[in-house]
Amino acid sequence: MGEASRVVRGPAATPMPHPPFPSTVLEFQERFGTEQAARKYLTLCRWPDGFQCPSCKAPGGYPRSDRLATECAACSRITSLTSGTVLANSKTPLRGWLWAAWLMVTSKRGLSASELARQIGVTVETAFMMLHKLRAAMVAPDRQLLRGRVEVDETYIGGPKAGPRGRGAAGKTLVVGAVEVREHAPGRIRLRCIPRVDSLHLHKFVRESVEEGATVVTDGLPAYEGLYGYRHVRVIQGQGQDPDEVLACFHLAISNMKAWLKGTHHGRVEARHLQAYLEEFSFRFNRRGNLGAAFQRLLGLSSQVGIVTYDAVYNAGRAPGAKGRRRSRG
Ligand SMILES: [Zn+2]
Repeated sequence: MGEASRVVRGPAATPMPHPPFPSTVLEFQERFGTEQAARKYLTLCRWPDGFQCPSCKAPGGYPRSDRLATECAACSRITSLTSGTVLANSKTPLRGWLWAAWLMVTSKRGLSASELARQIGVTVETAFMMLHKLRAAMVAPDRQLLRGRVEVDETYIGGPKAGPRGRGAAGKTLVVGAVEVREHAPGRIRLRCIPRVDSLHLHKFVRESVEEGATVVTDGLPAYEGLYGYRHVRVIQGQGQDPDEVLACFHLAISNMKAWLKGTHHGRVEARHLQAYLEEFSFRFNRRGNLGAAFQRLLGLSSQVGIVTYDAVYNAGRAPGAKGRRRSRG
């Protein structure tokens, strides 16, 4: 897919090391069998070239007795191994976090808090908080714009029955999507709930999702007219080409997304939570060829993205069962 080289691109980007990603449960247990091994992995992800003090930038330091922090050799400032990551201030063993992130990355279905609690020996409340922190990292907005050839179209989600290309179905949520075309197969995807189909929302979405100069393929909907800064290919029905065929990558990715929603959430998706689910789907879809990067990103080990709080992402309201979660710490 060539995804790795794109993910780390950026002016100030230091490419993340990618220690081999454990692809089976056995491999995982071998790699992260002890807390020491987990610490080693985190250290390597955070400081691939050796410890560097975030305060004075001097290299080198002394490990503290618990090995979870390093004292700078120059200024004596103590830096925690987990500060700035999703594991910060957590009493849960590092291995528990790595296991939770690994399961989230490798299993397509959602992981329940009670299941995780049983597996790593924490309370359900702690497991619930851990999953939410990891999900928050999933929905952190991607900064890399789509490029090359990009198919853009809308679809409806929810409601009793989706028409094949219906625009304006009652009780459904409107979603606009952009899908990269790479060698006739879907590349990366962006999805967004919008209130209605009009130039304002469609153009805004394209500008915020697709790199300028890219080729944007849409159907003949007049609202797409005037997309300046792009090579705009409009496929108008009845003029020899069928938009459904031309937008094949879009439709393939969307049917994937709908199947996932149906399988994981049984199709019962509240409109106010839909955007978060779409981000979660996109996260997995966009990293399906690079699970190691997805794993690091979930743990907050990716240098490109700061830590995202659950509340900042889901400010729409509290999740069911989230009672008292502010008090608990993963
Ligand atoms: Zn220092």
